[in-house]
Amino acid sequence: MNKKTELRNDWTKEEVEAIYHLPLMELIYKAASVHREWHDPSEVQICTLLSIKTGGCPEDCSYCGQAARYHTNIKVQALLPTETVIEHARKAKESGSSRFCMAAAWREVRDNRDFDRVIDMVKGVNELGLEVCCTLGMLTEEQAERLQEAGLHAYNHNLDTSEQYYEEIISTRTFDNRINTINNVRKAGITVCSGGIIGLGETHRDRISMILTLATMPKHPDSVPVNALARVAGTPLENNPKVDTWEMVRMIATARIVMPASVIRLSAGRIEMDETEQAWCFMAGANSIFTGERETLLVTPNPGVSEDMQMLTNLGLKPMIKESAKTTCTTH
Ligand code: SF4
Repeated sequence: MNKKTELRNDWTKEEVEAIYHLPLMELIYKAASVHREWHDPSEVQICTLLSIKTGGCPEDCSYCGQAARYHTNIKVQALLPTETVIEHARKAKESGSSRFCMAAAWREVRDNRDFDRVIDMVKGVNELGLEVCCTLGMLTEEQAERLQEAGLHAYNHNLDTSEQYYEEIISTRTFDNRINTINNVRKAGITVCSGGIIGLGETHRDRISMILTLATMPKHPDSVPVNALARVAGTPLENNPKVDTWEMVRMIATARIVMPASVIRLSAGRIEMDETEQAWCFMAGANSIFTGERETLLVTPNPGVSEDMQMLTNLGLKPMIKESAKTTCTTH
């Protein structure tokens, strides 16, 4: 592949704004061109996401059905047994996944037995030859080091939204808390997976600001999940309008152009997109999806593995074998 675009982390707000507001066809064309310089456009990374501890979270993220304070239909589930998690990982590998992400609905990691168990899970999944990712909430530097030593490849910690809009969505932690954890992960030598969600009621300016924060980090996140709000009944955002697919395409294309080497993950919201709409997202530079045997993405509906494999075949795409140099995951 011919790498013509340079990796930059000195993007200005005006530059990102200009890209984001390009006429859509022009934007997609540019993004598709950059995508071809840095990635094999026929490959899509398949990542399986498993909720290892569900619901009962003390945080108040207004989009999330797992927050204990909202009255949702989510079934609370304690930390899964290690063997169960390893079995899920084995099945995910057999189904074509090269990456396995374990998510726990915690505010932060505590140094207790549960964390010891997560460490065992990381070791077990790593031994299967899968890229292991976790999303467990806030992490200290020491905890990040323990995860790295256990073989953790990536840590997901989304920005969620812009710094300016953050307190409208979450009041129990700050944007700076997010950045701190991302820094701790990076210091430990774990790759960073960080993106956000659209459809929270944010403006275009907020979306541009979030992309700018990611694209001006000292090193771009290896993986950037772009999520459309999955509206969960009982959460404060349950009645927000559905995110238009072209809005997702615009976000993905902008992220692809300003962070050319990153894996851009088309994450939550796929259930509401048909194959044609998802094809536009791939054309705009998305090169990863989440799938799962349970047909859920954590606690919201998601297409199943066989449906996804059929879609890739229909589009002439194939699962990426292993994404070790670049990479992962959505949620927290
Ligand atoms: S997004 Fe994560 S931190 Fe926020 S309420 Fe849900 S599980 Fe908790």
